[in-house]
Amino acid sequence: MATVRPGIYLEDNPPRRSQFRRGRRSPVKPVIVVHTAESGTDQSGADPRAENVASFIRNRTTAGSYHLLGDADSIVQLIRFENEAFQDRTGSNQWAIGISLAMNAADWPDLPSTRRDEFAETAAQMAATAAVWLNEQGLPSPAARFLTKTQSDRASASGFISHGRRDPTRRSDPGAGFPWTDFFRRYERLLADGGLEPGRDALTRELQRLVGVDDDGIVGDLTIAALNRNWVGRDESFDSSVADTFTNNPNVIAWIQRRVNSEDGFDLDIDGKFGPNTERGVKSVLDRRGVVAAESFLAFLERAKP
Ligand SMILES: [Zn+2]
Repeated sequence: MATVRPGIYLEDNPPRRSQFRRGRRSPVKPVIVVHTAESGTDQSGADPRAENVASFIRNRTTAGSYHLLGDADSIVQLIRFENEAFQDRTGSNQWAIGISLAMNAADWPDLPSTRRDEFAETAAQMAATAAVWLNEQGLPSPAARFLTKTQSDRASASGFISHGRRDPTRRSDPGAGFPWTDFFRRYERLLADGGLEPGRDALTRELQRLVGVDDDGIVGDLTIAALNRNWVGRDESFDSSVADTFTNNPNVIAWIQRRVNSEDGFDLDIDGKFGPNTERGVKSVLDRRGVVAAESFLAFLERAKP
């Protein structure tokens, strides 16, 4: 785990020219733009690059900044999340959070595996830090998914996008070698382990206990299989009392509503009630086959309808 430096760097060390905007021009969304700072890459040992890039940003005479900047062993918060960082010229500054690794996008293939792991962990730690703040604002954590620019621009967007996808004619960071799968796994583990999103985590663990799997808060293959067994009734061990336990449980419906909203084009009220909009959303998402334990929830929701 990287050490988080205390303070807000660009407030404690005022920059030569403005590097952030106080307040936001439109509401923040659970969308994170991922960058590399193109600062050169430190391959091993103590890594001073994040601190060096923070100092560079403080002194530069052009605009360019991020909310969080990290390297192999430390994280610097440059800007409060409630303010706009100058991290993307394509309009996301108003509503996105920007995180950056102090390294070069082209260097991923050459990195020693230890350092690659450290960078992935730092990036996940920065993302989880942003998620905690979003949760405190009453917003969900960004979904662990890689968005297109069109998806990221939607009001209901939730997830991650590279700077290169935002601005493909000018940028390619954080690079084709950025380990998205590993990053998402680490990010979800941090959210689960740290209890960083208590509502979702507690419910996931509750679901896991009810279906008789290890309550580690991570919805993996075993949990999905157990949910299918208990909710679809495909198996002789099907126990309808488990499904009954969740019928009319507003926490479960709210969880489903958040899952639906993590897909494109949905903006359901998280009210814990299974109304017509939620039903339409669930059916549409099921068609795309992306939602955790989707078949199980279909069976469950059939029972939960008023
Ligand atoms: Zn960038």
